[in-house]
Amino acid sequence: MRKQIEEHKAARLRQLQQEEYHPKPSYVLEAEQVIAKHRESELEKANKKARAQLPIPADDACPDCFVERGVTSQMKPIPASEDAPEIDLVKCKECSLVIEIKP
Ligand SMILES: [Zn+2]
Repeated sequence: MRKQIEEHKAARLRQLQQEEYHPKPSYVLEAEQVIAKHRESELEKANKKARAQLPIPADDACPDCFVERGVTSQMKPIPASEDAPEIDLVKCKECSLVIEIKP
């Protein structure tokens, strides 16, 4: 009896070993891609959050460029609006963020 049981088990093992070489079904590949994309997105958010907690790298560095992409881009003064000439404006040349600098 043991011999037949061992043979049956060996046949099942061969079947399992053959299944290893079959490609993953497309729905599994798609699910893995979705999970990988989600993990990448979560990592990106964590990196942004970590950068948002750091001091800005230079006094005139754009906060959005630093937090979003980890780059240092200089904010430069731009002409004030005619409607509010008392408000100074600075603009990032990379992302076009404009910040009011109130005295
Ligand atoms: Zn910027």
